[in-house]
Amino acid sequence: MHISIESLEKIYPNGKRALSKLNLEIESGMFGLLGPNGAGKTTLMRILVTLLEPTGGRVLVNGMDVKKDRRAIRSMLGYLPQEFKFFSRLTTAEFLDYSAVLAGMRKRADRRRAVEEMLSQVGLFEARDRMANHLSGGMKRRLGIAQALIGNPQIVIVDEPTTGLDPEERIRFRNLIGTMSQRDIVTIFSTHIVGDVSSTCKNVALLAKGELAYCGTPDELIRRAQGHVFRVSVGPDELESVKQRYAVVATIPSESGWDVEIVAREGEDVRGELVQPNLEQAYVYLMGRDGA
Ligand code: ADP
Repeated sequence: MHISIESLEKIYPNGKRALSKLNLEIESGMFGLLGPNGAGKTTLMRILVTLLEPTGGRVLVNGMDVKKDRRAIRSMLGYLPQEFKFFSRLTTAEFLDYSAVLAGMRKRADRRRAVEEMLSQVGLFEARDRMANHLSGGMKRRLGIAQALIGNPQIVIVDEPTTGLDPEERIRFRNLIGTMSQRDIVTIFSTHIVGDVSSTCKNVALLAKGELAYCGTPDELIRRAQGHVFRVSVGPDELESVKQRYAVVATIPSESGWDVEIVAREGEDVRGELVQPNLEQAYVYLMGRDGA
């Protein structure tokens, strides 16, 4: 599986430029698409799933153009959009059966087997007869990923699936996607939460204002921030001014006031002890504190 994004551009009818000359190569495995709100992640995903036409450039999936080969590409896709609604009159199992029909599974017996297997995998077997729209937030999200994965798609696209989940559900959901996407498929996982991609994604792309700020492994991203993250001890009265001056990413109380961790901007001089960056700090180094 290979997705090739070439000079992709999207300008909405109101003139808003959501993607600018984006180039990106995506291989099999889990791919994290990271960026602040408004970066263009949803726009990119909607183009990939053929729901939106780009205004320039192209996307090739195994050599097929998403604009020209829509049908073929749709049959390879599983998609979990950001806003996902369930029909009110279907149980969990019925909903998944319906999703299997949409995914092209014609034989009832095949569907029954696939639905049961999928319900067990996402931990919803016990909830199979409950109305889908009455499930908890985390369970709905798991049903959402189940409908995206049923029918063995080769490309799975999930848009901000962890938003609104509590930390425990978020970890559970992340692990679920991680283990379920180990076949030779592309899984694209978009999020504005840095922690979502660190443990699960082989490669990540950082989008900012419709442009690519980084593409590579999470480790390489961390390496870029090496030498730019500092720990500094400040007195009780100095904290506010330090916060105003620098990108402060952690504030820890100490005996003499505060130990603060600062991500220095390019060329910025900070006197302090160098610390090994984590992915979140590397993100701040590249994108700035406000993600701009
Ligand atoms: P993200 O998913 O990273 O939050 P989006 O792709 O939703 O980003 O949005 C990218 C930019 O395009 C934002 O500035 C957003 O306001 C704008 N945008 C999104 N959809 C539309 C639309 N239908 N019409 C005009 N502008 C839009």
